[in-house]
Amino acid sequence: MARYTGPVCRLCRRAGEKLLLKGGRCFTPKCAVDKRNKPPGQVQAKRRPKISDHGMHLHEKQKARYIYGMMETQFRNVFEDAEKAPGITGDALKILLERRLDNVVFRLGFADSRAQARQLVRHGHIQLNGKTTNIPSALISLSDVITWREGSKKNAYFKAIVESIESKAIVNWLQLDRQTLSGKVLALPTVNDIDSKFEGTAIVEFYSR
Ligand code: SF4
Repeated sequence: MARYTGPVCRLCRRAGEKLLLKGGRCFTPKCAVDKRNKPPGQVQAKRRPKISDHGMHLHEKQKARYIYGMMETQFRNVFEDAEKAPGITGDALKILLERRLDNVVFRLGFADSRAQARQLVRHGHIQLNGKTTNIPSALISLSDVITWREGSKKNAYFKAIVESIESKAIVNWLQLDRQTLSGKVLALPTVNDIDSKFEGTAIVEFYSR
């Protein structure tokens, strides 16, 4: 299945809630959910139908996919890794998603959205422990250091981030040097650190059918 490339606000309207996929715009009156919280498409536009338990489980799984910008196969693979991890599968899933390099770049404030963070990684602007890494799904580990490639520090985007980073809040499991835009993983995230907008248990139910 190909990656969704249509308007992301449509995904929020489909989910019926703000998934915060567009960075700063999500907190302005331009947000499509604030303006028109109806499902997209003419047929469904009048009301949201009641959904079954399975529909609800599917809904939670799709929300998680949209938030982390993943295709179904990729997401399923992460779920299978979560099943093998010790502890509660739904919690392990959240932690594995949160440990993705593109998410960490987003959490460090280097990008306004995960989609933008993914682009930064794909285009080779980000280094993991001193090596340029263009794999957004790479998993960070304890004490990993996330920096910018030397050449990327000359571009206007980097300079704009240095100017705006002061006002951004950083999650407590990451440390950020705001002068050099260098991040460090102080601890692996726990489920309590993650402000997830989806139910891990519903996703477990979905895949156990
Ligand atoms: Fe979703 Fe943000 Fe678009 Fe609002 S502005 S619909 S929260 S992506």
